[in-house]
Amino acid sequence: MDEKNIPIRTYQVCNVLEPNQNNWLRTDWIPRSGAQRVYVEVKFTLRDCNSLPGVTGTCKETFNLYYHESNEDRESYIKESSFIKVDTVAADESFTQVDVGDRIMKLNTEVRDVKVTTRKGFYLAFQDVGACIALVSVRVFYKTCPLTVRNLATFPDTVTGADTSSLVEVRGSCVNQSEEREEPKMYCGADGEWLVPIGGCLCSPGYQEKSGTCKACSAGFYKARSSDAGCSKCPPHSHSLRDGATVCDCHSGFFRADSDPPSMACTQPPSAPQQLISVVNETSVVLEWSPPRRLGGRSDTSYSLECLICQTGSHSQTGGKLCLPCGSDVLFSPGQAGLKTTRVVVSELRAHTHYTFIVHARNGVSQASGAAGSAQSVSVTVTTNQAAPSPVSYIQATDVTRHSLSLAWQQPDRPNGVILEYEVKFYEKDQRERSYRIMRTFSRSVDVTGLNPLTVYVFHVRARTAAGYGEFSTPFEFSTNSDPFPLIGEGVNSAFLLLSVSGVGILLLISAAVFIISRRRSKYSKTKQDSEEEKHLNPGVKIYVDPFTYEDPDQAIHEFAKEIDVSSIHIERVIGMGEFGEVCSGRLRAQGKREIYVAIKSLKAGYSDKQRRDFLSEASIMGQFDHPNIIRLEGVVTRCKPLMIITEYMENGSLDAFLRKHDGQFTVIQLVGMLRGVASGMKYLSDMSYVHRDLAARNILVNSNLVCKVSDFGLSRVLEDDPEAAYTTRIPIRWTAPEAISYRKFTTASDVWSYGIVMWEVVSYGERPYWDMNNQDVIKAIEEGYRLPAPMDCPVVLHQLMLDCWERDRAERPTFSQILNMLDKLIRNPGTLRLSPPTCLLSPSPWSVCVWLQSIGLERYRDTLAAAGYTSLDNSLSLIAFISAKKTKQKQNRVSFGGEKIQTPTVLCGVIVAQT
Ligand code: AMP
Repeated sequence: MDEKNIPIRTYQVCNVLEPNQNNWLRTDWIPRSGAQRVYVEVKFTLRDCNSLPGVTGTCKETFNLYYHESNEDRESYIKESSFIKVDTVAADESFTQVDVGDRIMKLNTEVRDVKVTTRKGFYLAFQDVGACIALVSVRVFYKTCPLTVRNLATFPDTVTGADTSSLVEVRGSCVNQSEEREEPKMYCGADGEWLVPIGGCLCSPGYQEKSGTCKACSAGFYKARSSDAGCSKCPPHSHSLRDGATVCDCHSGFFRADSDPPSMACTQPPSAPQQLISVVNETSVVLEWSPPRRLGGRSDTSYSLECLICQTGSHSQTGGKLCLPCGSDVLFSPGQAGLKTTRVVVSELRAHTHYTFIVHARNGVSQASGAAGSAQSVSVTVTTNQAAPSPVSYIQATDVTRHSLSLAWQQPDRPNGVILEYEVKFYEKDQRERSYRIMRTFSRSVDVTGLNPLTVYVFHVRARTAAGYGEFSTPFEFSTNSDPFPLIGEGVNSAFLLLSVSGVGILLLISAAVFIISRRRSKYSKTKQDSEEEKHLNPGVKIYVDPFTYEDPDQAIHEFAKEIDVSSIHIERVIGMGEFGEVCSGRLRAQGKREIYVAIKSLKAGYSDKQRRDFLSEASIMGQFDHPNIIRLEGVVTRCKPLMIITEYMENGSLDAFLRKHDGQFTVIQLVGMLRGVASGMKYLSDMSYVHRDLAARNILVNSNLVCKVSDFGLSRVLEDDPEAAYTTRIPIRWTAPEAISYRKFTTASDVWSYGIVMWEVVSYGERPYWDMNNQDVIKAIEEGYRLPAPMDCPVVLHQLMLDCWERDRAERPTFSQILNMLDKLIRNPGTLRLSPPTCLLSPSPWSVCVWLQSIGLERYRDTLAAAGYTSLDNSLSLIAFISAKKTKQKQNRVSFGGEKIQTPTVLCGVIVAQT
């Protein structure tokens, strides 16, 4: 009976009276099931030996517990010695008979543990050695550390180790939606307790921890990384619609850069930079702007610059006209892209060029937003100015003797305008720069004489434009030699020698004055050239006032010219002879101004009223003009005699004489630069509705900077006053348009005709138009359609422009504005000023008609003549004779072969019959 008096089954033994007891009770086979240490809990009762009457010596109060490991589950007989003793078990409590009577049960519970690791199972056995004992229950168990979750890692139910002190290391596995932070580990102690948790897991992005599990972030929240942190609310301008967001999506119109953290608000690209200001300094431009009005919520705004060369007044953002990138030689300081500052200096630009700069503002989300560049950019168009030329890069010695050196060099890479002259500085190498000499020249070569033999000299060359001197070249060293004769340098062309020697004879045969019929359609739009009509077309433009409309000539002169006190004029020398008297140079010191050089024209004594009026009218006209290419009137002296007209002083005098003096010394670009000045002055006059009527190289003056200015405003009045008598004597026939000669139709278009003649004069270095032909023949030739041929070395485009100026129909002629544009284009693109290719050099016989034509600058008529059967000189002799009969005059003419230039007595120019 147990404590509750319920009968229970027990194993009992109580042989206390008999000695030497050895009674065994054995269990069935118990499978180990992976356990390594099993616990045996025994419940039993034990009779107190003292309470048994008559028991002596033999009574025991303990029993022994044994075990035997075995793989066999059904061993029928196991030897006593096969069992291993676990322990002798004594009762904590024993009882007496009295106790039983008192119904007091003394149940003992004893637990023993034993390591069982060698077999699949084991048997237990109890040995009684003479006690009075009842075995109430035996419970056999092992211990585990129970399944658990620590630091978001799950640790499974784990059987404890074999020894009481052993710890079983267990690796945990991360719970769902979590990632290992550090390998999760724990130890399972022998008593089934988990010990020392190490490492653990973190909830994955989009999940946060909640009671040992990872739960998805709800809408409107996000978690970007695996971390202990909880989900965060979406940052500004973003949202998450579904659970488990790892990042919030930007609202429409907002963006996130790749490098932006998910916790950052969504942002926008910047608006355009503001207030872009450009300051042009020669060929540099300083660009400055203000940051965009809207930075889009970011602080990483940067700027980049786009540089374009555009057609006049256009750029890609507005005009859609052709714009080209500037090229890699343009310098940007501090840089072109990724700028944090709002100021950039752009240098190494071309002079006189229209540039468009576009400043783009960008930030981290510009790319992500895919915003069109124009939305975030601002542009400005500038025109660069004249600038000093870049240095000459290479100097070559062509001839070397004992006492002289001939040097030649190339034009600087960036002339930045028209080169006015070159300066050569040189010194003996040993002397260093202690004493040096300077030479100046218009051409790209110089002969340096008076040198010491066998001495090394150092040379530097620099070029000058209207903007001033450029840098000197790097030093070039050349030595004079001991040989008295020149050493011929590079490039003597044997073909040229052959041609020139054998050519002279044949060329002498040919002598012709020739004009060309050039009937071609004008490419210029029809423009009304008549000045009368232009007046009405250009309201608001300052119009020239004819001084002869004033009844009192002195009123006109005092309206348009300043009276100068004669005491402020200091006359120095006579420089020319004008129609009314001498022209002198001198100095003028006007009150409060610095002294300047002036030209002084005076009216010789004994003049009539008409002469006085005509003389002063030039000043009244000139005084109305204010333009860099029109001669400037400083003032007049009318209050004392002689009367004087004071103008700015032009050091190089009139253009025709100047060119003749410097025959062949200028580059084509320099010549075009001079022509540009004349065209610019004439455009100004035509804009003011002034018709010059006497435009000719002799009436253009040149200053020390090669700037050409239109002068001589006397003729218009003379012609009008003298309709009959002066007709042929006063009209400059060779310069005048046919309609002005025939019926005195003087207009801006007739000035354009004269301008064409000036072009011809300039390119031929002051040659007389139509050479020695008389006026009547010139009029007739023009009437028949003949025109002046291209001068030697004249680029095709220039001659074409001349021919356009000489259109018979004056409405077909270009305007000065068109001429100016055309010349500007030529200056900007010197490549277009090429000469025609020397095609004749390919011809098998050098002495073909082709070569002859080329020699006189008329090779473009080769095809016309060939079509008419003139292919060899033999069968062309009749043509030559015809030409000779028509107009003959031998003349010194320069002839060109394949680019080599020689002076040779030969024929003059040109021939050709358009419809031969
Ligand atoms: P004109 O009467 O204007 O034709 O002048 C006669 C000559 O004087 C010209 O051919 C020039 O050589 C010279 N001359 C006139 N004006 C100037 C000037 N402003 N500067 C230098 N030379 C001048």
